[in-house]
This record gives sequence, structure tokens and C-alpha cells, in this order.
Amino acid sequence: MQNFDHSTTLKTAKIRLDRHLPYFKCNNVIFDISKKKSKDFYSLIVSRKAQLPSNANKLRQNFNLTEEELKLVFALPHKVAYEPYEKAFWYKILNLILYTNKKLLKIGSSENEKCNFCDNESETFDHLFFIVPSQIYFGQILKVLSFQDIILGILTSPCPLLNYIILMGKLYIWDCKRKHIHPYIEGFKQKIKIYCQTEKYIASKNNDLVNFYKKWPENILL
Ligand SMILES: [Zn+2]
Repeated sequence: MQNFDHSTTLKTAKIRLDRHLPYFKCNNVIFDISKKKSKDFYSLIVSRKAQLPSNANKLRQNFNLTEEELKLVFALPHKVAYEPYEKAFWYKILNLILYTNKKLLKIGSSENEKCNFCDNESETFDHLFFIVPSQIYFGQILKVLSFQDIILGILTSPCPLLNYIILMGKLYIWDCKRKHIHPYIEGFKQKIKIYCQTEKYIASKNNDLVNFYKKWPENILL
């Protein structure tokens, strides 16, 4: 028969009891779980999750955004993007964790910060997603859009399709950079067609073509 150390057992039991106190402190406020209802738990979980990321203040200063605009900036990827990798790509840009050559040089993963396309300027977000396309590839499209529109999305009015096309433009540039090929306007149009046809196929399978045509104009596939 095993020999139990009763003093240790009692001590362990006391610690267990302490660990299961029916309350805890959150933001210096006592949360008594024996008195709270399910909606209080839900509010607590959401309040701790639904916080703007650490880069939010930097974006607010750089683009002179109001509190409401800042919230919209981080809500847009969820409203506009379709696939998880599209949302993830957008969030990486907003949180400055998309690894451009400039960033790779900074962390010692590259010996060169120059842009893959022109091999001349430093590869920053504004160079990669705005300067290069506006000067060489998508000049006409970008004439009416600002740097803020390209990086954050259009905030001033609801433009889900235009915001989606802006996202596709950035994804197209990023894909070309990774594949070491030059972007060109016909390649970008082809990408839009493929996205559109894929969504149309899914919508028709789900018997939801009405919503598909609300998003995509009929002549975009021409
Ligand atoms: Zn360049």
C-alpha cells in the first residue's frame, strides 16, 4: 500500500481551492463569476478580443484618421475580402508585417533593399503598391486613387467592388514580385476575370446569382 504524505495533500488541495476562487480581476475590476450571466461573459471575452492592434496608433497618425475611420480601416478586410488568405494579406499590410525587401534587409534576411521590378528604389509599401504601378503599369486606374485609398482602402463611401479590386491589385503585384515577373495591365485584368468567374461559379452552385450581380457588373467578364 502507498504511503501518502497528508500535509502535502492538504497543501495541494488548498492551492486548488485558491485557484478556483469564484472571481478574478480584469482591468482592476473584480469579476465575480458566481453573480455574472452569460451575456457578461460574452461582453468580457469580446472586449478583450476586439481591440485594435498595436500598429493602429501609427496608422492614425500617418493618415490623420479619426477614431471611427480607424475602426473602419480594420473592419474593411472582413467586409470586403472573400478568402482567408486575402484577409490575412490585407491585415499584414495594415500591421506592417508584410516583408518587403526593405524590411528583409532590416532584419538581416536580405543584402538588398531595392525593388524587384526597377532594381533602383528602396522597396517600401508606397513604392511597391503605389509608385511603381502608378508610373508604369496601372497609371490610368490610379489617377483617381490616393496612396491612402491603396493602402487602407476607400473609407469615404462604401465601395465594396472597388476596394476588392484594389486588394486584387496589391495581391497581383505581390504575386509578380514573388515570382520575379513584371506586372502588366492585361495580366491584372485576367486576374480580375478569374476571381469574378470563380465567385460566379460558387454563387450559381449556391443559387445566389442575385447577390453576385449586386457585386459584379455584368460586362466585367467581357
Ligand atoms: Zn521599383
